[in-house]
Amino acid sequence: MTEQATAEIRGFQTEARKLLKLMINSLYSNREIFLRELISNASDAIDRLRFESLTDESLIADDPDFRIAIEFDNDAGTVSVVDNGIGMSRDEAVENLGTIAKSGTEEFFDALTGDEKKDSALIGQFGVGFYSSFIVASDVEVLTRRAGEDVGTRWTSTGEDDFTVEDAADVARGTRVTLTLKADAKEFAESYRLRSVVRKYSDHVGVPVMMAKEGGDDDNKEPELEAVNSAKALWTRPRNDVGDDEYKEFYKHVSHDFDDPVAWSHNKVEGKLEYTSLLYIPKRAPFDLWNREMPRGLKLYVQRVFIMDEADQFLPLYLRFVRGVVDSSDLPLNVSREILQQDDRTRTIRNALTKRVLDMLAKMDPAEYHEVWDEFGLVLKEGVGEDFANKDELLGLLRFASTHDSDPTQRTSLKDYIARMNDDSEEAESEEEPEGEAKAEAGAEGDASVDDASADESDGKRRDKIYYLIADSDAAARSSPHLEAFRARGIEVLLLSDRIDEWWMSFVEEFDGLKFQDVARGELDLDDAADESKEDTAKSDDEPLLKRIGEVLGDKVEGVRESKRLTDSPACLVLGEHDMGIQMRRIMEATGQAAPESKPHFEVNLTHPLVERLNDEADEDRFGDLIAILFDQASLAEGNAVTEPGAYVKRVNKLLVELLG
Ligand code: ADP
Repeated sequence: MTEQATAEIRGFQTEARKLLKLMINSLYSNREIFLRELISNASDAIDRLRFESLTDESLIADDPDFRIAIEFDNDAGTVSVVDNGIGMSRDEAVENLGTIAKSGTEEFFDALTGDEKKDSALIGQFGVGFYSSFIVASDVEVLTRRAGEDVGTRWTSTGEDDFTVEDAADVARGTRVTLTLKADAKEFAESYRLRSVVRKYSDHVGVPVMMAKEGGDDDNKEPELEAVNSAKALWTRPRNDVGDDEYKEFYKHVSHDFDDPVAWSHNKVEGKLEYTSLLYIPKRAPFDLWNREMPRGLKLYVQRVFIMDEADQFLPLYLRFVRGVVDSSDLPLNVSREILQQDDRTRTIRNALTKRVLDMLAKMDPAEYHEVWDEFGLVLKEGVGEDFANKDELLGLLRFASTHDSDPTQRTSLKDYIARMNDDSEEAESEEEPEGEAKAEAGAEGDASVDDASADESDGKRRDKIYYLIADSDAAARSSPHLEAFRARGIEVLLLSDRIDEWWMSFVEEFDGLKFQDVARGELDLDDAADESKEDTAKSDDEPLLKRIGEVLGDKVEGVRESKRLTDSPACLVLGEHDMGIQMRRIMEATGQAAPESKPHFEVNLTHPLVERLNDEADEDRFGDLIAILFDQASLAEGNAVTEPGAYVKRVNKLLVELLG
């Protein structure tokens, strides 16, 4: 068969075409990264061949020394990145270089805004890899031969609509990517420029990146090569030997992310088990964080040999956003995912790495952690329900909106909440709170920031509960009648409005010895807390009214009682301690399950003028209407729908007509 006969022109997949176009425009200002991407691919290809050669040495017998080379021709304006790694078969070249094989690609393109600045950030996050060649090249040629195969492949494209593939003879094992540089990118065919880019981005690559020695301008001789990187796998180096920039670049290599990480933790463990881990917290959540098939997990090495990507056995699901490397000295080189799954060593490492990540998060600068929380908070909340061994650490990492601060973007930690607990005048003094002080030398007592005496003067009694409220949205939470008594007493309440809050809360009893209390549940007794706003609480002589209301509501409610929660609203609904809340009900309904029946208590504010007037209402019909309205309103305030909206509107209108005469 002749080479010509096998040539074919293929179109890029639509998404690939879109990506190419967008990328060329939006990454232009950062175009030198193409080299990093190509070297990163070359190094991955070598890792993969090294792994395959463990079981089949013949694959590398012809050329056992792994290396990457960068060649350039200043006159021709070309630069090549050459590796002797795994290479690609023809089919693989078509598949890998012509399509984007990432799940969620469609969603990604849907998420693009058309605003170039924003989109370029998204693109970085998506990972552009090989296609970044087209930022600087008008023409790209890939010569590749898969290890163990005879025939090579030549792939060429100008990065527009299509590419050409054909068989090719005399191709060395591995891959040679040659870029014909655009007129304004000729600088990348110069030794100095290339060297500086390699050092900047790829110093950590574990194989040597070779370039011709400088000065050897003798055209007749084969140029002498030298390594321009340090060629030592970064995680194998001692910590204080590695600079921040190197850590950051290495992160980009393992994560395919363009952003810097926000934190990392590099550790070598010796003893019964020996392993090194380097774990990173990304700045931003990947666009497919909620996709169950999203890539996750660490790169696994055994004794420095790359074994697999996305080894997800080393971290729990709720830490799926963490990136990095784990290199074990104990696992066998032929370890498989199945073996990992059941291996005790895996479990031990996983437990240790989990603690490391949580610890790293806890030690972050509060302002930086705030951003991490905004990106990954919801996933960490999953952890509270899934990882009982680390529940306390996780609770310490949670951040909440709270009545302490009317700005819903402000967050508080439980530690801060507790520190403020005995300072009931907190509403008055919203001074700069160090939000998220994870490592505050805690101590419940004697907090130095509590300055004025009024804090202690309040009543001497300590509150012993962490109060919270769950609602559909922050706005709904803040306007909930359940907060009234707390506001009146200056008691802080945490406001939860994420859809999984009720779920994870159901796994939590207490933090730091303090019980959690849902303010919308059960009988509330704030009277041992500082209480000057309500002198006489028990108005039991009003019981006839409560009874009368109970008769109207019948079995719609569990019971009717006087409310100690309300100051402004006439009535509210209160769930039993163990009843299912509104969020869980919604989730069950959405998944087609029947939520168990539960009836709320109807609580009435006996000091409310409307309620006081009810006492005098002799007309039973009118009394019934008023109670029905109060009940429906209380329902609305919970974020529930009114069961008979039409009837509600009619009743209200009837009253309005009477009012207007
Ligand atoms: P990514 O590296 O993020 O998967 P790329 O677009 O850079 O995306 O590359 C797509 C695929 O092409 C890679 O996953 C790999 O399978 C293949 N590939 C790219 N470069 C090489 C190379 N130098 N050697 C072997 N395979 C390569």
